[in-house]
Amino acid sequence: MNRTVETLLREATARLTGIGDTPRLDAELLLCHAIDRPRSWLFAWPEQILEGEAVRRFDKLVEERLRGVPIAYLVGRREFWSLDLEVTPDTLVPRPETERLVELALERLPPDSRGWVADLGTGSGAIALAIARERPALQVVGIDQSGAACRVATGNAHRLGLGNAHFVRGHWASALAPSRLLMIVSNPPYVEEGDPCLSRGDLLHEPRSALTAGRDGLTAFRTLLPSAVAALQAGGWLLVEHGEEQGRVVEALLRGAGLQEVSDHTDLAGRPRVAIGRVAASAAS
Ligand code: GLN
Repeated sequence: MNRTVETLLREATARLTGIGDTPRLDAELLLCHAIDRPRSWLFAWPEQILEGEAVRRFDKLVEERLRGVPIAYLVGRREFWSLDLEVTPDTLVPRPETERLVELALERLPPDSRGWVADLGTGSGAIALAIARERPALQVVGIDQSGAACRVATGNAHRLGLGNAHFVRGHWASALAPSRLLMIVSNPPYVEEGDPCLSRGDLLHEPRSALTAGRDGLTAFRTLLPSAVAALQAGGWLLVEHGEEQGRVVEALLRGAGLQEVSDHTDLAGRPRVAIGRVAASAAS
């Protein structure tokens, strides 16, 4: 049956209600993807009749969304820090709360900063690319254990023309030279292994290794901290995203790893989210 744009959107919105928080927006994004048009086209042509292959593609996308597949994977794209990023099921979908980590990093990197910054567990490269865009005189290296994620991130850097962002496969900071980096940022896996949220909604379709680390969710922090601290120069900063219940314990882990000036910061929704510490400045500086 031939239906108008508006009818298709209304029907899909009704079906998607209860799957995520934005069913109408999700329906619009899926329809745009199915017919390869920008969102403005939907608003300009609500009475346009759609038929055939385009409608079948749209129906299939709605079916997949009903199974919980994240919109970002269905359309292959996600915006982060106003950057249009490719994402695939090999990468975590970048979250808006992680933009807070970028803000806090930029506050500690003067605009003319030179030198190297690393993003551990970079995934699609979201954090590394945002910093590379805002601080063109810096070199940023994103590291991920997944070769597939590194390929996605490298493709994003090329498409965005960010020649100062580089991506390599590796295990946290273990391959980095000692005492070189100005800053290390990371959004590691931190969800507790038994957390029921892992079997619900979008998280079910994201890479488990990017979400969860050990029974208490702290294994990645414990593993990455020693090599990260060793890779930082005197006065260098470490910033890590964490779960909203983990602020105190992650602060303690940072202090235990020898970092100073340790503090914890909330995200835009007011939830504890980013812990920060600093390597002692050298006596000479
Ligand atoms: N904040 C994400 C979530 O709970 C988890 C991201 C992560 O483990 N780094 O959906």
